[in-house]
Amino acid sequence: MPDIIVIGGGITGLATACALAGDGLGVSLLEARHLGAMASTWTLGGVRQSGRDPAELPLARAAVAQWAEWHEALGAETGYRRRGNLRLARNAEEAEAIRTMVAAQRALGLNLEFLEDIKAIRAIAPAIGDSVVAASFCPDDGHADPDMTLAALAGCARRRGVILQERMPALRLLVEAGRIIGVETPGGRLHADRVIVACGLHSASLLEPLGLALPMVAKRVCVLQTTSQPPSFEQVFGVANADCAGRQEIDGRFRVTTGIGDWQGDPARWTEAALRPSFADAGALIARTTAILPLLAASGLERVWGGLIDLTPDALPVFDAPADWPGLVIGAGFSGHGFGIGPVSGQILRALALGETSPFDLAPFRLGRFDPAAARAPLTLHG
Ligand SMILES: Cc1cc2nc3c(=O)[nH]c(=O)nc-3n(C[C@H](O)[C@H](O)[C@H](O)COP(=O)(O)OP(=O)(O)OC[C@H]3O[C@@H](n4cnc5c(N)ncnc54)[C@H](O)[C@@H]3O)c2cc1C
Repeated sequence: MPDIIVIGGGITGLATACALAGDGLGVSLLEARHLGAMASTWTLGGVRQSGRDPAELPLARAAVAQWAEWHEALGAETGYRRRGNLRLARNAEEAEAIRTMVAAQRALGLNLEFLEDIKAIRAIAPAIGDSVVAASFCPDDGHADPDMTLAALAGCARRRGVILQERMPALRLLVEAGRIIGVETPGGRLHADRVIVACGLHSASLLEPLGLALPMVAKRVCVLQTTSQPPSFEQVFGVANADCAGRQEIDGRFRVTTGIGDWQGDPARWTEAALRPSFADAGALIARTTAILPLLAASGLERVWGGLIDLTPDALPVFDAPADWPGLVIGAGFSGHGFGIGPVSGQILRALALGETSPFDLAPFRLGRFDPAAARAPLTLHG
């Protein structure tokens, strides 16, 4: 019997499994499809602290520090590059919003600059087009390669003895005498002292039978990937109104993304075909991103895919070990930020599972904070 079961083989579940197995605990990870089947490989892969909610900023800053060394701990490259994040303004109103954001974030101690005009922007990113009038620049932000990162995490987990079970969905949490004692799977019941629910959008349906509501909206996103291009853009870009973001990957391909509305279906029943963006969605994303990076117009289009984002009402994740349910730990609802803070999520969920004090203030991330009537935050994609 494993000491701990982790449900979900994305960056959150794998980082948590690696952290726990590093302590010599017996860890079993259940993944319904294959490792990295959802957001953790659909993602843009931005590792950003600029523009974060003040509650999440300490986590994002700690994560930026950890990414620089994570490959050493994991024993394989993650493709992490610390080359900065640009948030771009395309008109005077957006420029003002960015100027205000820069002042607020500098007051919180962030290394963030306001670039007043296209000349200042091109000194950092020469490929930016004439449609951009101002920007913020955080040199400490960056990006990593999602596939390399997931492979590095899986390799580390295996070496540390984590039992990785793919195509093994958790069907429900097992309860006995008021505590969580394991998970029911199609292969039978699996018992453990503690169970960590880290299965993204699907987490809510596992928690619901316990009377725990994790309110999330599934937001659809469209992602385009070009053919490999000569190196021409090092940063991650987002825009003031968050209607697109992108970066050039280390193999030269550009990956760009935008939100395309709500997913109305059952989050557990998505298929690649059902998530596929429409011609019009892809066209709108191409128009927006070529205005920002004109060189994209001549690039070949290699892949198009759709994804889902697990958006909570306040766009902050849930990290919790509810007192009413001993044995249960929750890490979900990352609202489009869970890749960058992946190393820290693993650290936090490890501490919650072991009953240790977290190095971060977790009050803003408790499950109990949600008021069902509360207003919903908009989706923002800034890389
Ligand atoms: C297009 C896009 C762009 C993004 N850009 C960024 C960015 O630039 N920076 C950033 O920080 N974040 C970004 N994000 C968000 C980030 O990718 C996610 O927050 C993060 O990957 C969440 O990781 P996770 O492990 O919590 O969830 P997921 O990666 O979704 O993993 C959950 C896993 O659980 C499995 N699962 C589901 N149900 C069960 C079950 N019952 N039993 C077992 N397994 C189950 C799923 O198959 C899946 O593999 C982006 C997301 C998208 C889609």
